Amino acid sequence: MQETYDYIIVGAGSAGCVLANRLTENGKYSVCLIEAGPADKNIWIHIPIGYGKTMFNKKLNWGFETQADPHMNQRQFYWPRGKTLGGSSSINGLIYIRGQKEDYDRWGALGNEGWSWEDCLPYFRKLESNDLPEADTRGKHGPLSATSIPAKHELVDAFIHAAQKEHIPYIKDFNTGNQHGVGYYQLTTKNGLRQSTAVAYLNPARQRMNLTIKTEHLVHRVLFKNKKVVGIELSNKGGEPFVIRANHEVILSAGAIQSPQVLMLSGIGPADHLQAMGIPVQQHAPGVGQNLQDHLQLRLIYEVAKPITNNDQLRTVWSKSKIGLQWLFTRSGPLAIGINQGGAFAYALPKEAKTPDVQFHFGTLSADQAGGQVHEFSGCTISVCQLRPESRGYMHLQSTNPAQPMAIQPNYLSTDLDRRTAVASIRLARRIASTQPLADLLVKEYRPGLDQQSDEEILEFCRNYGATIFHPAGTAKMGVESDEMAVVDEQLRVYGVEGLRVVDASIMPTLVSGNTNVPVVMIAEKAADMILQHQKTQSKNVALT
Ligand SMILES: Cc1cc2nc3c(=O)[nH]c(=O)nc-3n(C[C@H](O)[C@H](O)[C@H](O)COP(=O)(O)OP(=O)(O)OC[C@H]3O[C@@H](n4cnc5c(N)ncnc54)[C@H](O)[C@@H]3O)c2cc1C
Repeated sequence: MQETYDYIIVGAGSAGCVLANRLTENGKYSVCLIEAGPADKNIWIHIPIGYGKTMFNKKLNWGFETQADPHMNQRQFYWPRGKTLGGSSSINGLIYIRGQKEDYDRWGALGNEGWSWEDCLPYFRKLESNDLPEADTRGKHGPLSATSIPAKHELVDAFIHAAQKEHIPYIKDFNTGNQHGVGYYQLTTKNGLRQSTAVAYLNPARQRMNLTIKTEHLVHRVLFKNKKVVGIELSNKGGEPFVIRANHEVILSAGAIQSPQVLMLSGIGPADHLQAMGIPVQQHAPGVGQNLQDHLQLRLIYEVAKPITNNDQLRTVWSKSKIGLQWLFTRSGPLAIGINQGGAFAYALPKEAKTPDVQFHFGTLSADQAGGQVHEFSGCTISVCQLRPESRGYMHLQSTNPAQPMAIQPNYLSTDLDRRTAVASIRLARRIASTQPLADLLVKEYRPGLDQQSDEEILEFCRNYGATIFHPAGTAKMGVESDEMAVVDEQLRVYGVEGLRVVDASIMPTLVSGNTNVPVVMIAEKAADMILQHQKTQSKNVALT
């Protein structure tokens, strides 16, 4: 007997855990949630500052490597992705950002009915428990906590004051739709612990009889009969392949890199590529793996005048023990906060951008690469990224083996606007750093270094040191049927087949202006409603006939 469920969800990440909860809530449907990685038992997943510990842990992180990028001096980039319950929400930087009102209005204007800001706002409110005072834009009773950073830090305060002098207004809440401003971020933490979607959504649903969770199972492909989904092929830890069946639907939530991979392995993708790989074409879908967008972070590193940075706290066994004990007994201190506390949304090219075009992350620590060993000196980082890059990358299969990674080409800085924004954003970051009271706290610009001044030198720095800020999206984009590159419709159903949806960061037609976790949770909340509504209509139709 083959196992059969009403719904099969592929990937227990930011989106998958939300769906698993919502689709089992009314008790009517059986759901199987399948995750390639292990359970989220590693303690560093749950300690907010543990980000550095999971960044390169191959058991919990897919740790992809991109192809050499021709626009970035042929560099290859490390692309971490969560591989555990909670997916990337279990290893991310915890920043709680929705994006701009205009991001969603843009999705709506592209013909995606039901995706304007007004349409999405109820789901943003539904998903969150916000610790800021009640307001029309905020939710108070959702599963995911939006927690304001409790402790103030001299360096972050100085960054905020300096940015204000550079005409960036102070902002208390980045999540009203209008982000323009500088302030402290909110984080997806609760009581000093990370709130992944596994913690916020899956744990409360675990005991439900109608939910089955399979960890350490890799999904290979979706199975069809006459273009209708009937189930999936997967393998367990031992590599043994087997099939499970779906009565209603299969939902791909394997993330922006692996949902397209599963689609292609199932015969849905660019026909010529599939044929070249020897995969029978189920549906020609040229947009699968295309339209890849990401935020490129440019990190300016400063030596700090006083030993007040995380570098200092993480240097000796004694200081590490001190902050460890503080977290253990009070769930507070640097370990409870994560790495970036201050933030800003601003204009690098004010004459061209209608809404903020860059985002800053200010962290009271420094390292050669994000999540790497901190520097010996007292240091801080001003990271800046362009919010709506024009550059588009792509992905394709390298092998028909589902365990082999995709070939990823980010194509960062491949347009003139992106290059000009990068240069202007570094200049803006430098203006803030040289403004009081921040200027007095910074001893030296360690990177890029003040000898790099011309546009060409700054651009060369961006090419040599730019890196992902971990927001790949758009690789199975939502769009209208007449758009050949659209992979899913506005209900997130894959065009050309029946019973298959994609629900994760892949479906974003354009990358949102900010961090992507909360937008993905919103997408999954909305998708769950669509799926349940669809099933209700189907059942009614059956009852009538
Ligand atoms: C290091 C890092 C820092 C980040 N920082 C932030 C931040 O501070 N704030 C923010 O908002 N966003 C941040 N992000 C981005 C954000 O976390 C992601 O955009 C979001 O989690 C993506 O959700 P998803 O559901 O699309 O995919 P994921 O959460 O990545 O989930 C995909 C899941 O599918 C599983 N899977 C994949 N293939 C298969 C298969 N074949 N079979 C079975 N399972 C499979 C994966 O193991 C994974 O668990 C960060 C991301 C990273 C990696």
